[in-house]
Amino acid sequence: MKSYKYLFFDLDHTLWDWDANASETLIDLYHRYDLGKYGIVDAVTFRDVFFCENTKLWADLEIGKIDKFFLRNNRFRIVMEAADANIKKMPEDLLVDLNAKFLKECSQKEKVIDGAFEVLDYCKDKFDLHIITNGFEEVQSIKMQYSGLGQYFDKIITSEKAGHKKPSAGIYQYAIKHTGAAVEESLMIGDNLMTDIKGARDFGMDQVYYNPTKNNHSEQVTKEISQLAQLIEFLDRRG
Ligand SMILES: [Mg+2]
Repeated sequence: MKSYKYLFFDLDHTLWDWDANASETLIDLYHRYDLGKYGIVDAVTFRDVFFCENTKLWADLEIGKIDKFFLRNNRFRIVMEAADANIKKMPEDLLVDLNAKFLKECSQKEKVIDGAFEVLDYCKDKFDLHIITNGFEEVQSIKMQYSGLGQYFDKIITSEKAGHKKPSAGIYQYAIKHTGAAVEESLMIGDNLMTDIKGARDFGMDQVYYNPTKNNHSEQVTKEISQLAQLIEFLDRRG
């Protein structure tokens, strides 16, 4: 049986509960800024439209169609347009304000994916633990600090630091080099089939696909799980 020494985790949606944390932040912002008066029917609609538009923007970011500045500067305008809000009635700096508050407050939220601490407590003395993330440099370490995830990890490899985004081999190469890991003893764990799984596989690294919604797919993966705690069984006797 193959054994591993180095575990690389994705952060958002794999350990840090982006959906729960972003949802809480957006619903709070909706009420605080009284966004109903611009024609957005309710907080849940605002959240849902944000999730939908944000997913599209991140897909564009991941293929290099837009950069992070475009995403940050235009995200709330695009959301407001998609929600049919009356942008003309909004104070000039509202969208800039919302974006700044969202980034700051969301990254300080603490919810993690079920089983995250259980898995990390199991792993901490058996493996070297690192993060590989395409998330923004300035918010990822804040998320790790506030959520309590930070204590488990040695290196946080961000795409900005590495100069390459997942699924590019460049970021995996950078991760191996800067952690002193050996690729044949390394495992990538993530929720994204393209960036985490195909990226690692093409680089020659084994992968665990965390697929909580059990999406159908035809990718070859080393191991697939629908709950994080299943990692413990998989890693038992592989460490
Ligand atoms: Mg992810």
